[in-house]
Amino acid sequence: MSRDGVEGWLGYLRQLPAASSHCHHMQADQHNGLSLDRLLNLSYAGWCGVPVGQTAAERQSYIDQIGANTYFVWLSKAVAELYGHGEITVASWNAISEAMVAAHEDPGHHFRLLSQRCRYRFAVQDSYWDPGSDLDRPDLFRPAYRINSWVMGHGPGVTDHNGGTPWREGFSPATLEEYLAALEAAIEAAVARGCVAIKSALAYDRTVAFDQPDMEAAGRAFGRGASSVSPEDAQAFGDVVFHRICLIAGRLSLPVQVHLGLGILRGSRPMLFEPVIAAYPTTVFDLFHCGYPWVDEIGGLLHNYHNVRADLCWLPLISTTAAVRALHEYLDVAPSADRILWGDDCWTGEEAYGARMAWEHVLAHVLSERVSDGLCSAALAERLAERLMSGNVEQCFERG
Ligand SMILES: [Zn+2]
Repeated sequence: MSRDGVEGWLGYLRQLPAASSHCHHMQADQHNGLSLDRLLNLSYAGWCGVPVGQTAAERQSYIDQIGANTYFVWLSKAVAELYGHGEITVASWNAISEAMVAAHEDPGHHFRLLSQRCRYRFAVQDSYWDPGSDLDRPDLFRPAYRINSWVMGHGPGVTDHNGGTPWREGFSPATLEEYLAALEAAIEAAVARGCVAIKSALAYDRTVAFDQPDMEAAGRAFGRGASSVSPEDAQAFGDVVFHRICLIAGRLSLPVQVHLGLGILRGSRPMLFEPVIAAYPTTVFDLFHCGYPWVDEIGGLLHNYHNVRADLCWLPLISTTAAVRALHEYLDVAPSADRILWGDDCWTGEEAYGARMAWEHVLAHVLSERVSDGLCSAALAERLAERLMSGNVEQCFERG
């Protein structure tokens, strides 16, 4: 069967179901009153820091500044399809916004965007504000268990970058070993509730280089507040806890999802994480965002380590161009194409739909180029499309 270039592939991809390896979807009630202005502010486009503005001139200036950025590009294309007033321009702005607010009066609208428009079979949900939560929608979300607070929280009052801490009322481990036992029990309980992965966003808190466990140094930090612990001992505590998490994840066959790249840029380079991948060969590491901007380092890790998954989640939004390049490269080097994943990494249905459109765009370009360049048969490209839209994510996060 042959597809007619990029357009033909887009048509094929559009009708396929999808599965997302990673997202942070907000509770339904938080979408109440979601206007275009608010969406632009709380989406990745808002991270650019360009004021959205209120007058026609301010909105035009906003669009002129951010209009080429791919966070904005795909959000604009998404709202055009979802609300029927075209892409975001000064002329269409208010009509899009009013249609969006009206649609979100129905609290089910957000989840329907995911199930019916994104056509998700499921999404792996990282509710970092409530680790392990599936938003009471187990039909749609399979939760990941965020471990940042355990790694960063060496004592009462010490939190991760989201303010998370395991030191809640009634939590009083007397020793580091008791703390690690409580961590293990918490992960086991999360799995019993349906968690399918561990999630580390530690690249926003610290370096992703984890030294060999030093129990003595970690013990000096345990149970103490930030002001009475040296940065070296605090880091050693995190090293010990993270190594233990990798062991537990291997024993429970839980993939460890690891944010690499961006975050605290200087400490997030994928190669810094290689020693951990090598130390735990029976633990699967799902490496996020292609380690952008170091997408080729993820290619090297994918080539060399059977326990690595290369995950393009978020990348088509960060840089659509880099995602096309990364997918080409990973298909070249992956020992199995089953090890390449994708996820939306979004908070809202509108942005998730844009992320799906971006992923379709990337797949359509890569597959049509590989077929026309003779690197891949059309029949194989079709099977790859199904794997990359949903099959690989389903296989990676299947429990039991
Ligand atoms: Zn994320």
